[in-house]
Order: sequence, then C-alpha cells, then structure tokens
Amino acid sequence: MISVSHLSKRFADNEVLKDINLNIKQGEVVAIIGPSGSGKSTLLRCLNLLEKPNTGTIKIGSVALNSEHYHNKDEINLRKQSAMVFQHYNLFKNKTALENITYPLIVGQKIGKDKAKQQGLSLLERVGMLPYANQFPITLSGGQQQRIAIARALAVRPKVLLFDEPTSALDPERVHEVLQVMLQLAKEHITMIIVTHEMEFAKYVADRIIFMANGVIVEEGPAKSIIDNPQHELTQRFLRQIT
Ligand code: ADP
Ligand code: MG
Repeated sequence: MISVSHLSKRFADNEVLKDINLNIKQGEVVAIIGPSGSGKSTLLRCLNLLEKPNTGTIKIGSVALNSEHYHNKDEINLRKQSAMVFQHYNLFKNKTALENITYPLIVGQKIGKDKAKQQGLSLLERVGMLPYANQFPITLSGGQQQRIAIARALAVRPKVLLFDEPTSALDPERVHEVLQVMLQLAKEHITMIIVTHEMEFAKYVADRIIFMANGVIVEEGPAKSIIDNPQHELTQRFLRQIT
C-alpha cells in the first residue's frame, strides 16, 4: 500500500537519505530504529511531505508523487494519506482536547460542527481521554497530550499513521499509556510506521523492523529476528549500545 522508490533527500551538501526503497502492506506495523542523525525523522517527514524529496517516488494508496513530474494536486492528495504524531505532541495550546481534534475536521475536511464533535468525542473515548475533553493541553500530562495527538491524527482517517519517537519526551511512568494506545491500534490493523527507541515494544508490536544508519536502510526483517539475531555489524553495535 505504501511504496517508496529511489528516495533521496539532501540539505545543502548533506545527503541525509540515499536511495531509499521501501514497501509496506496495508495493516503492517513497521518500526524504524537507528542512531541519532541517521535520517529516520527525515524519512517520515518526506512521506508526509513536510520535507520535499530531491529524487524518487512516493506512493500511498492510489496517490503517487514523483519528484520529476511534480503536480501540486498530487502533493495535496499525498499529504492527506498520512498523519503524523510528533515527539512533542504539537497540540494547539489555545484549544481544548476536543477542539484539537474537531478543528482539522471542521476547517480541513469541512465537516459540520455537530458531526465533528461527535467524532471527536468518540476518538477521545478510543484513546481513554473522554473525561478530559474540555481541558486545555497545559493542564494535562505529556502522556495524556500524546494520546490526544494520536486521536487527532486518527480523525482525518489517514491510510497510515507516522509516529516520530512518540514516547521520547515522556516521563517514564507515562510511556506505558501511550504504548498501550498504539498497541490497540496495531490490533485494529491500522497501518503504522513508528520511529522508536522502545525495543521491547518494537519487538512485540512491529511486524517488521528497519534499521537505518547514515541515510540508508542497513537491515530489515521480522521484528524478533532483527532484535534477537541482527546480521549487520552496525545493527549489532547499535543494539548493544542501547540495551
Ligand atoms: P534522526 O531522526 O535519525 O535522528 P534526522 O532525520 O533528524 O535523523 O536527521 C538526519 C540528518 O539530517 C542530520 O544530520 C540532521 O542534522 C540533518 N537535518 C535534518 N533536518 C534538517 C534540516 N531541516 N536542515 C538541515 N539539516 C537537517
Ligand atoms: Mg529523529
């Protein structure tokens, strides 16, 4: 359902992604691991077109964008195919939990206010945040804010959810509640790409793990075999360092 071919991205002289090729099936959960600076965030940001690739093709569902035959319409359509969950939640601070979810529905998707509210409440319930619907982000814990961010990402019914280190900014005792929500989504067969340092979680939840270093995919395979039996020296070294 997602296919990336010959994707490259550079910032000035720094080639951050080098000829990335990737295919992801509907309902698949893919974890991306790798050292800091290896290009994991840039890859997610390219999929969501927060960054424009220099070369290559990205296809999600039936929408494709080729860096050589560029159409604005494809760009707008492709962006709608995915939704991102960021490390620092990026909620609207001046909106309540519920408004954070209904705003993109009302403004972006032109859904009526009542219907948006119904959908928003049901999404809050799904992430266990219904009791907090009318609270502002600042009054909530990091874990609670991240669960709202996940509900907001789900609201636009994307083909794929992109998570960029969703638990890295959380207090340790708050990590679990966010991983729990993500586990639930995985069980519902929502397609997800998750950049994470939570190896136990990745091993348990991901169908596949991709190890990146220096802008390339070094090794990929079933989660358990990558973690328990990495083949490449760089993967072995990385896993030794973080566990
Ligand atoms: P990771 O998420 O794996 O830590 P990133 O994708 O954030 O890695 O970064 C990969 C490389 O790209 C790093 O060298 C980083 O400094 C560089 N980089 C990322 N974003 C930008 C940007 N907007 N401008 C310039 N360089 C960037
Ligand atoms: Mg990153």
